[in-house]
Amino acid sequence: MEWSWQRIPAEYLVTGVKLARGGKLAARKGFLHVKKGRIEAIGVGKPTAEGLPALDAEGLVLAPGFVDTHVHFREPGQEEKETVATGSRAAAAGGYTAVVTMPNTDPAIDNAGMVRYVIDRAKEAGLCRVLPTGAISVGREGESMAEMGAMIEAGAVAFTDDGSPVASGKLMANALKYAKMLGVPIMSHAEDLSITGGGCMHAGYWSTRLGLTGMPRAGEDAATFRDIELARATGGHLHVCHVSTKGAVDAIRRAKIDGVLVTAEATPHHFSLDHSCCREYSPLFKMSPPLREPDDVTAVADGLADGTLDCIATDHAPHTATEKELQFDQSPFGVIGLETAFAVGNTFLVEAGKMDLGQLVQCMTERPADVLGLPLGRLDEGAEADFVLLDPKRQWTVATEHLRSRSRNSSFLGETLCGRVMATFLRGRLTWREEDPSLG
Ligand SMILES: [Zn+2]
Repeated sequence: MEWSWQRIPAEYLVTGVKLARGGKLAARKGFLHVKKGRIEAIGVGKPTAEGLPALDAEGLVLAPGFVDTHVHFREPGQEEKETVATGSRAAAAGGYTAVVTMPNTDPAIDNAGMVRYVIDRAKEAGLCRVLPTGAISVGREGESMAEMGAMIEAGAVAFTDDGSPVASGKLMANALKYAKMLGVPIMSHAEDLSITGGGCMHAGYWSTRLGLTGMPRAGEDAATFRDIELARATGGHLHVCHVSTKGAVDAIRRAKIDGVLVTAEATPHHFSLDHSCCREYSPLFKMSPPLREPDDVTAVADGLADGTLDCIATDHAPHTATEKELQFDQSPFGVIGLETAFAVGNTFLVEAGKMDLGQLVQCMTERPADVLGLPLGRLDEGAEADFVLLDPKRQWTVATEHLRSRSRNSSFLGETLCGRVMATFLRGRLTWREEDPSLG
């Protein structure tokens, strides 16, 4: 039977693909057999089933759907930047089939009803699994603890006050203890605002030269040290968000050796760009934590390669064009990243010789799933068929037409990257396809 993109059948094969799973890229070509949204069979060589419609994806890599531990979808409250639906669209275009949303919406996601609200919006969109986090503190105000148990029952997967750090060490310790009982991580935006407050970029040569207030590495390092010690003392699971300094990477490496339950993520911009990108005052390079120095960039990439940092997370942070046209110091922190994450990883980690494609896929699939303790990011028989087709050799120059987010604030606009997501499938159903005649 003929393959049809317009009408994807309930049962089909994908053939001619190299499978990326378990940290390895298969040397021989193989196949995937999907039946009613699940993986019926997968392996190298020729499929045993015959007579099924087959997508010939000759030359492409087939990997599990990507999992992102850190995105901002802005709904409710800032729908002009992003909604759960438009964010899901951007996720699908980036190869993602599961994303963890941050609770710094307006109002904040700090109760069970709000968690259910995000899940309902995601179901309506139907393009990506959306896994909400709940706030640690009521209103993200850092004072009293939010109703964590009720939020877990409603479907929350972790807790964080991201967007802001938790200033009170006592509150953080209590949150780690509670989350431990509930079996979920506390995600920390590790920043000591008494050190970084008022800053808008990394404190170093470029902040001095540009006359902008800097955010010293020490602000991130000190907060990371504190949270590691609180995780050590409580036995709770600390997940350190968007690690950007070599000091934080080193601290996490030592903590893991000591047996502290700590995991960590790094963003594509922190392992590819440094503070010199701010030299023309473009707010497309303003984020928190900021772009650091070349030795930090190297430390973050090396940390991902040796497993100190568990996974790649985009910290997809949409902002309107009007906001990102403000002066550098007035503009909000954050850049989008879902549509470019695979290409940035492939260009700056794989093509640069830091890791191979199998490892990169692992950093974007099973490792983030393991951080959350969820059975995602794998290609196992019987599992739901979340997968992507990748062309790791395809070059493309990032343009606004490639972005499906409601916002356009990408650091990589105009950059030529290597590696393209060609199609994304969620539960066996197509959620994104590169409109390209060379595929099918
Ligand atoms: Zn953050």
